[in-house]
Amino acid sequence: MNVDRRRRRIVVVGGGVAGVEIATSLGRRSKNDQSMPAVILVDRDSAHIWKPMLHTIAAGTRDISQQQTPYLAQARDAGFEYQPGEMCSLNRANRTIGLAPLHAPDGRLLVPAREIAYDTLVISVGSEANDFGTPGVQEYCFKIDSRLQADAFNREVRIRMLQSVAQEQDLSIAIVGGGATGVELAAELMQLTQIAEAYGAPALSSRIRITLIESGPRLLPAFPDDISQATEERLESIGIRVMTNSKVSAATTEGFELDDGPTVTASLKVWAAGVKAPAFLTNLDGLESTRGNQLVVLPSLQTTQDPNIFSLGDCSSLTLSQGERPLPPTAQVAHQQAQHLIRHLPAVISRGKRPPDFNYRDFGSLVSLAEYDAFGSLGKYGLFKGTTIRGRLAQLSHAMLYRSHQARLYGFWRGSLVWMVDRLNMRLRSAIRLD
Ligand SMILES: Cc1cc2nc3c(=O)[nH]c(=O)nc-3n(C[C@H](O)[C@H](O)[C@H](O)COP(=O)(O)OP(=O)(O)OC[C@H]3O[C@@H](n4cnc5c(N)ncnc54)[C@H](O)[C@@H]3O)c2cc1C
Repeated sequence: MNVDRRRRRIVVVGGGVAGVEIATSLGRRSKNDQSMPAVILVDRDSAHIWKPMLHTIAAGTRDISQQQTPYLAQARDAGFEYQPGEMCSLNRANRTIGLAPLHAPDGRLLVPAREIAYDTLVISVGSEANDFGTPGVQEYCFKIDSRLQADAFNREVRIRMLQSVAQEQDLSIAIVGGGATGVELAAELMQLTQIAEAYGAPALSSRIRITLIESGPRLLPAFPDDISQATEERLESIGIRVMTNSKVSAATTEGFELDDGPTVTASLKVWAAGVKAPAFLTNLDGLESTRGNQLVVLPSLQTTQDPNIFSLGDCSSLTLSQGERPLPPTAQVAHQQAQHLIRHLPAVISRGKRPPDFNYRDFGSLVSLAEYDAFGSLGKYGLFKGTTIRGRLAQLSHAMLYRSHQARLYGFWRGSLVWMVDRLNMRLRSAIRLD
């Protein structure tokens, strides 16, 4: 869908948890109301995926083709325009963003570098793991920050598992980072191994060694102590080796070298530690950024240097007046900030109203250990604030976060149908990727 060039334009860059919700909701309104600004979504990828489920794509316990939402299809349904491309520059005086040239996988130039004009710009380009310049990480480690990276890792896991079975060899996998990503990936890989055995990969679980390496004293530092402890115990009970207080100094072909201790050997290495925003946000035409490349925003979610540019989600840094530290890079924050802009952006643009301040409500955090277990700490809001939950209830709550995101993209009825089809597919299709 191409927007009417005479209408005012909201350009949303990054169609992740935050950006796709904004484009969908404001797109729907602008489709039915010509006085509303047109919405253009720019993303470097061709399909959206709910990032908190990337570890299941990486392990192959979820089918990528069933879980992704192509932006073109979403744009047609919701009434926004989708522009493929990677933002690399900004010209605030001209109100344009610059997109890098688009290349085909074989290197052919598809679309040369181009510019897109905006009246209001929303930057929600997310984050990636931070290797802090650790030698060897770029060369030897997989990361699972995007749909394509998770898929590439899954391809390699399937190849290595096949080799392990066919040649009766051991397979060692090491993951650096004991946050939610590393913990969830380790559990999912263990589940993959067990399901693969059931599909006729004999003794695979005795051949696979999974190690989770964390530099701090405990896993899941953002969770309460008791959840960290219970998670570590549960991971060890399913056969995962957990190493805390272990700082990686380098990645090599053999594995990970530690600051203090023997090398952890691993033929498959994943870096899932640290968080930083994309590098191009630093020095973006005078916008203020942090050392982790995040754009600094006011409580209104406007960037400190330009009221026409908003930023939210992982790529922004917001410290609320009642908080000491910036809000954490989580899907919950990204979603609530998106809802704030959905509610207020139209009036800000059409009536020049001052955007109200964003108010964060901490509903807690959840971590899922595949089918084995799940833990959650309910935050400062809601009926059961401060409570710790575990098991089926936590698993269900974790699943609900994803399903409610889908309902926001597809609407309640279609979202429910998608959920039902997923459940059916789980029964009808293989539980892991076998192709
Ligand atoms: C494996 C894993 C598990 C997680 N589990 C949880 C969890 O259980 N709970 C939780 O709250 N959080 C979890 N998170 C964190 C959560 O996914 C993020 O906080 C959330 O996705 C941030 O949303 P966002 O909209 O800011 O960015 P994203 O969802 O990351 O979206 C960013 C979008 O921007 C696009 N983009 C990037 N750069 C450019 C560019 N230059 N030009 C154009 N487009 C660009 C990307 O393609 C992407 O579509 C998890 C993360 C991972 C990786």
